Parts: sequence; C-alpha cells; structure tokens
Amino acid sequence: MNRILVTGGAGFLGSHLCERLLARGDDVLCVDNFFTGDKRNVTHLLQHPHFELMRHDVTFPLYVEVERIFNLACPASPIHYQHDPVQTTKTSVHGAINMLGLAKRVKARILQASTSEVYGDPEVHPQPESYWGRVNPIGMRSCYDEGKRCAETLFFDYHRQHRLEIKVVRIFNTYGPRMHPNDGRVVSNFIVQALRGHDITIYGDGSQTRSFCYVDDLIEAMLRMMDTPADFPGPINIGNPGEFTMLELAEKVLHLTNSRSKLVFQPLPADDPKQRQPDISLAKERIDWEPKVALGDGLTETITYFRKLLAE
Ligand code: NAD
Ligand code: UDP
Ligand code: UDP
Repeated sequence: MNRILVTGGAGFLGSHLCERLLARGDDVLCVDNFFTGDKRNVTHLLQHPHFELMRHDVTFPLYVEVERIFNLACPASPIHYQHDPVQTTKTSVHGAINMLGLAKRVKARILQASTSEVYGDPEVHPQPESYWGRVNPIGMRSCYDEGKRCAETLFFDYHRQHRLEIKVVRIFNTYGPRMHPNDGRVVSNFIVQALRGHDITIYGDGSQTRSFCYVDDLIEAMLRMMDTPADFPGPINIGNPGEFTMLELAEKVLHLTNSRSKLVFQPLPADDPKQRQPDISLAKERIDWEPKVALGDGLTETITYFRKLLAE
C-alpha cells in the first residue's frame, strides 16, 4: 500500500482522485484549506479506514511521511483565483516550494497539476508541449498563469538540482460532477443557468473555442503519468482534443437539459484566450492514453449531478 498525499483533495478534481486512489488500495492523506473545496466532496470517504482529511494551507510548511504527492492545491476558476490574486500566486509558488521541500526530505515522487494556461492566448494551434506560450505577465489572469509557470520552473529545478522524481501534467479544461456551482466556469455556469431557466451568458460573440475533458478520463491520465519511468518528468498535455465554440456548448447544454433559456451576450473578459486545443500525441505515446468520454455523455452525467444539487 502506498501512502499518498493529495493537496487540494477536497476540490473538484482532488476528490475524484482521492476516490480512485482508495479504490485501488492506496492510503490517502487529503490536505485542503477549503478555500474553493468543500468537505461535502469527501464526506463519503471519511469513514474509509485508509482516508484522512487534514485542514492545512500549503503556503505553510507541512511535515508528513508519504511516498507520493499529487499537488493540486490552487483555486482554478477565474472568479476564484482573481478574488485574492496575491494568495493565488502564493499558493502556486510557496505551495510548490513547500511540497517540493517535503518531497525532497522524504524522497517522494511528486506530480504537479499544471494547466493549459501556461500557453496563454496561443498563436500555435493545437498546443504541443514544446510551445512556450504567450502569457501577459501583468494582467488579471497572470496571478494564475505566471504562478503555474513558476511552479513548473521550480519542479524542473528541483528535478535537475536535487534529482527529485517529478511529473508535470498540463491539464486542459476539465468538467464533471462536483464542479463548484458558482465558480463561474463555463460548463457549470451554462448547466446551472439552463436548469434554473435563467439566461445563458455568452461572453463575447461565443466564437472562442475550448476543448473539454471529462473528469474520469483526466484522473486516469494523471494516475498513468504518476507511474511512468523516473526519467520522464513531462510536461505532458492532458485533455480532450474535441474543440467547441462556446455557442456550440450552449446549444448542447440547452438540448440536453430541455431548457428554454435564452442566450444573452456579455463583454468578453480581458485576456480571454480565443482558442485552445491540446495536442495529445505525447500522452498517446508515453501513457497510451486518449479520452473515451464524448462531450454529450459527460455533460449528461454533469447535468444529473447539478439537477440533484439544485433540488437539495
Ligand atoms: P478546485 O478549486 O475545485 O480545487 C482546488 C482545491 O485546492 C480546493 O479544494 C481548494 O480549497 C484547495 N486549495 C486552494 N488553495 C489552497 C491552499 N493554499 N492550501 C490548501 N488547499 C488549497 O479546482 P480543480 O478544478 O479541482 O483544480 C485542481 C487543480 O487542477 C488546480 O491546481 C488547478 O489549477 C488544476 N487545473 C484544473 C483544471 C480544470 O479544468 N478543472 C484545468 C487546469 C488545471
Ligand atoms: N518543507 C516542508 N516539509 C518538509 C520539508 C520542507 O514543508 O518536510 C518546506 C520548508 O519549509 C522549506 C521548503 O519546504 O521552506 C523548501 O525546502 P528545501 O529543503 O528545498 O529548502 P530549504 O529548507 O533549504 O529552504
Ligand atoms: N464563458 C462564457 N460564459 C460564461 C462563462 C465563461 O462564455 O458564463 C467563456 C469564457 O469567456 C471563456 C470560456 O467560456 O472564453 C471558458 O471559460 P472558463 O472560465 O470555463 O475557462 P478558461 O477561460 O479558464 O478556459
């Protein structure tokens, strides 16, 4: 049995990861400060003999004994990470330093949940790992984008300087049950608006694109990446190459919810990337992975979750 630390384990992705690790027989220490996560995401795990929940902020040192670390702690939606941008950078950078220091002391392998945001508003499409990105260093999104870029730098420097076993995954937009209903991300916004009969808010003209990966596919890729040979640190893109405009997404959500909500157009936020699609050739080659869940199927699962949540 492996002792595994999951930071940000009470969040959307973290809670699914904890579940999968327990199911395969690992011992899981979930660390979270509940900034955007929720105890209810892991309530069903609390009785599990191999699950432990700890309230802790990763910007402070953490002394525990583990063999593997999944570092997911960081607010991920623009509304949340822009709420306290200084804290967002601290979480990414100080959090990475502390978790890398911990990994170094206990000789643990450590995986970083990085993001497609490191590519910024890309002029290369789709984005391969070799693309360096086009990020505004002083804009509204910078606390998150540059924080995550600096965390990648720290991971690779600990790897080179201290021979740490690192894994860096660049996650593209992921959705599914346990997304925060008010975090402003497009999938949760559209579904909640459609189910409530409220207007669907399209930012800009809705022609910007994103590629949406269902959470189960993403977690599978993260687990496979963690188990790759030590000489493969990544970075590796994880996402679903199926690319949709926000207008297409809105139409799909309206259709699947049988909603009569109307589309309304609102201003596009600053630095909003126009397009985003992962090149997943490396994931296919190195971890024999590609996503299996089609957008319609994943949305149906997510709609079922939000229907239940809103009924409560
Ligand atoms: P989330 O907000 O649901 O989860 C983040 C978790 O981290 C929350 O439980 C939050 O309370 C916790 N947290 C935040 N600051 C913390 C701190 N200082 N100390 C301890 N815990 C802290 O978001 P998510 O979608 O589950 O994202 C998880 C990770 O994956 C994040 O690092 C995010 O940047 C990355 N990611 C997610 C996506 C996506 O589409 N969901 C895309 C790219 C990258
Ligand atoms: N750290 C931690 N847990 C540990 C070991 C270290 O949180 O088990 C933190 C510690 O606070 C330090 C950071 O990780 O500031 C970086 O550790 P490292 O050993 O790389 O650097 P140093 O301690 O020399 O600054
Ligand atoms: N978006 C939208 N309506 C919403 C929320 C988001 O049109 O109610 C757009 C947003 O402008 C962006 C895309 O949907 O172009 C994805 O936004 P999200 O915040 O989910 O992710 P990110 O921009 O970080 O990829």
